[in-house]
Amino acid sequence: MKCSKCQFDNPDATNFCGKCGMPLTADARKTYGLADKAEVVYGDRLLPIGLAEGCTLQRDVKAGQVLSYDDVELPKGRLCDELRTWQENQYQTWKISEKCR
Ligand SMILES: [Zn+2]
Repeated sequence: MKCSKCQFDNPDATNFCGKCGMPLTADARKTYGLADKAEVVYGDRLLPIGLAEGCTLQRDVKAGQVLSYDDVELPKGRLCDELRTWQENQYQTWKISEKCR
């Protein structure tokens, strides 16, 4: 299946482009469309859907499996990733202050 973004020719039955990480099928686009509590998201290092575009998969994932930061390589130098790290740090700081009350 040819990738619509980078034109890489992927084998059939591939959910994500092997070169640029673009979701190629409807199943792939559903893979990370789940929401959970902040403690689960940060604890399991889940990848937000809004940050998935442009990432490169580092290993095979099953259809329907939630993606984590361990499954992908992020594009370099994105402001959105810096903001996500800042957000997580804010959450961790808030969690610590809640425990101290
Ligand atoms: Zn591609």
